[in-house]
Amino acid sequence: MRAYRAAILRFADDHSPLYEADGLLVVGPDAQGRRVVRAVGDHAALVGNYPGLAVEDLRGKLIAPGFIDLHVHYPQTDVIGAPAAGLLPWLENYTFPHETRFADPAHAAEVAEVFLDELARHGVTTALAFSTSHPASVDAIFEKARARGLRFITGKVLQDRHSPDGVRDETEQSLIDTEALIQRWHGVDRLGYAITPRFAPTSTPAQLRGAGELAAKYPDVWIQSHVAENRDEVRWAAELFPESRSYLGVYGDFGLLRERAVYAHCIHLDQADRELMASTGTVAAVSPTSNLFLGSGFFDYAAADAAGMRYGLASDVGGGTSFSPFHTMLAAYCVGREGQTKPGLSLTPGQLWWQHTAGAARALGLEGVVGNLQPGHEADFVVLNPQATPLLARKTAQADSLDELLFALIVLGDDRVVERTTIAAAQHR
Ligand SMILES: [Zn+2]
Repeated sequence: MRAYRAAILRFADDHSPLYEADGLLVVGPDAQGRRVVRAVGDHAALVGNYPGLAVEDLRGKLIAPGFIDLHVHYPQTDVIGAPAAGLLPWLENYTFPHETRFADPAHAAEVAEVFLDELARHGVTTALAFSTSHPASVDAIFEKARARGLRFITGKVLQDRHSPDGVRDETEQSLIDTEALIQRWHGVDRLGYAITPRFAPTSTPAQLRGAGELAAKYPDVWIQSHVAENRDEVRWAAELFPESRSYLGVYGDFGLLRERAVYAHCIHLDQADRELMASTGTVAAVSPTSNLFLGSGFFDYAAADAAGMRYGLASDVGGGTSFSPFHTMLAAYCVGREGQTKPGLSLTPGQLWWQHTAGAARALGLEGVVGNLQPGHEADFVVLNPQATPLLARKTAQADSLDELLFALIVLGDDRVVERTTIAAAQHR
């Protein structure tokens, strides 16, 4: 067992933040040998229960749950910051040429290593990530994630039409490859597989039908895709699938809306779409830096809440502009505030942080497993330094409430704040 004395942030069942200014976090193996939170709370109240246990003194630091990135593309690590006139030219000119190179396992392995280093540097301990259409890209990152002991989910991209040579796959083989990868990787250590149609316009109906059949056959496997990111894409989907009620409805028609199905963006939805997401347990991966960068639109938090939709935060690198959960939370705040195209609201610091930790875990169906530091959760956590920069030190010293402390970190924080990222199985940095 190991113990840490620091300020500690975690979340109550009602999603509200719980904070110990002088806390104790005790970590140790559970009955299955998983490294989990054994106890957490006020230092003075708890420490007497653990005589003789060495306590690492991290006073002045903040221990918080590791962040969860609900949507990110590891092969786009080198696409971040590419200048392009919107989504479709960005795909054609930058993303597809880069992804073509992932047929080469050595290239995939090299980028996977850089990508996982970036996640750790930024305090991200779980991600639901796209690979490319090449099965080798999936093997490369699963091997690296397994070696690091990460809870990590990815899948081979399905795209059998409207895609250039080099990334386009073949319908029947793509489904055979997907099932083989599920059998090879899903449930191995902390790894999970996601059936991954790129987005409806780049899959034939036959490929989407096959994906839906696999989703029914393997109900605890995840599904990930994109929906309703921008208006050109919505129009294109409507032309290609005239029988479906809406773009989201395409996925529903092929059996791809269910628990553990995560759709990035979800901006240009209507009320019936939102109700369909809620009733099927389908989740939105809100990707605010990407949506602002590509000018796609603004996720409507009020409408999502009214419909009872679940959602969480995502970087969407390389459309997104940062791996940093702090940058993503700040962008989500700005998207929430936007009140010209939808009702504007002010997300609280606790709500923003929850969406990137416990809320994201709930969205993935991993509530009680990761994303929180309540007893029994796998011990993935970050050690944050509220004095990491001169201005941050000045602001956090003046914080009179938890909201003020967390919001200073959200607005001024980045990778400099992340002093340590601890994975249940190992420690990095
Ligand atoms: Zn994406």
